[in-house]
Amino acid sequence: MPRSKTSSLSPNRSTFEQQAEAEALFTSIGDGAISTDEFGRITRVNPVAQDILGYSETELIGEWFPKKIIAITSDDIPVNLIDRPITKAFLTGRSISEKMYYRRKNGEKVPVSISVSPILLEGKPLGAVEVFRDITLEEEVDRMKSEFISLASHQLRTPLSAIKTYSHMLVDGYMGDITPTQKKSLRTIISGANRMNELISTLLNITRIESGTIAVTLRMVQLERTIDDVIKEVSMMAADKSISIELKNESQASISIKTDALILKEIITNLVSNAVKYTPENGSVTITTLQRGADVLITVSDTGWGIPLQSQDQIFSKFFRAPNIVMRETTGTGLGLYLVKGLVDTLGGSISFKSREGTGTTFYLTLPRTPKRKSTKSTRRTVTTA
Ligand code: ADP
Repeated sequence: MPRSKTSSLSPNRSTFEQQAEAEALFTSIGDGAISTDEFGRITRVNPVAQDILGYSETELIGEWFPKKIIAITSDDIPVNLIDRPITKAFLTGRSISEKMYYRRKNGEKVPVSISVSPILLEGKPLGAVEVFRDITLEEEVDRMKSEFISLASHQLRTPLSAIKTYSHMLVDGYMGDITPTQKKSLRTIISGANRMNELISTLLNITRIESGTIAVTLRMVQLERTIDDVIKEVSMMAADKSISIELKNESQASISIKTDALILKEIITNLVSNAVKYTPENGSVTITTLQRGADVLITVSDTGWGIPLQSQDQIFSKFFRAPNIVMRETTGTGLGLYLVKGLVDTLGGSISFKSREGTGTTFYLTLPRTPKRKSTKSTRRTVTTA
């Protein structure tokens, strides 16, 4: 009979052996690894962590982790103790993963992807293990990718505007009479060019968000007016499917908020056009607005196909399209909600949804009536007040 292998959990292994094994494991991890005791004092550091941070083992052991290992945002603002992944892991008793920057001993800043797990014994924290990776290269590749998309999108805009201008001139008869068949073909060209234009805007906005260079111009915006404009823009698509669109203001008076008008419109356009697009004929879309304390709540509900339960946690991911939609509606990029999420964050708001497949979906958008000063998120953004 073959002898069963001795596992590290085997009771007949000595504590000494188990410790040696844990030590070897810790040292050989390909990412930086630091462990702490229950007070956050550093107890172990592997060679990769020393390489990334530029500190030797003796400089780190015994030090209080959050003080010695300085975390900063991309704007060089120190990350608050309460926002540090290690603090969150201690407070919640759960593993926390985040990206931020660490300050090396020589003052340089290094982007890191961090994952911290608390060490618990019968629910009580005994310490934590943080594993982190230098993501300088990934950030650089991302930056180059964004730069390329931005450049390509700008270059595509010029020929596209020529296509649009001349198609409009042809369809409006400025270049002589055209037959109904030619008119129909030209309308198809115009609608294709419009779609391409929207895609280019989406790509440009995404690169601006990802690079943290999106400009925010704050001014007072009348909410109903913005929503009415959006409804007008999607009304043709809704009429084609006999879908009704209704706007209800649940507050006593009309609502004005201090925000970026273009970003707000982009968010609402995406939500309302999705509601119309993913609702079958004769359905309805309802938009409500409500002023609640320092916030406004906007909901967009539809009686559409809904989002399957197993797809719900991926709905704001880049390029994601749920399988029930892909089989019905071939046009779409899966970029709209990813962009919406980024834009909502930019305005200091939040977004969530509830959906039931076959019944419908409601998106809940909360925005501050007056945005707080610059967010502490690790992105750069320009905020101006008009
Ligand atoms: P796209 O509409 O181009 O596919 P989005 O990012 O706007 O991309 O949406 C991502 C996916 O989320 C959609 O493909 C669809 O599966 C789902 N979705 C978004 N809004 C709705 C909605 N109102 N009803 C049902 N599914 C939706």
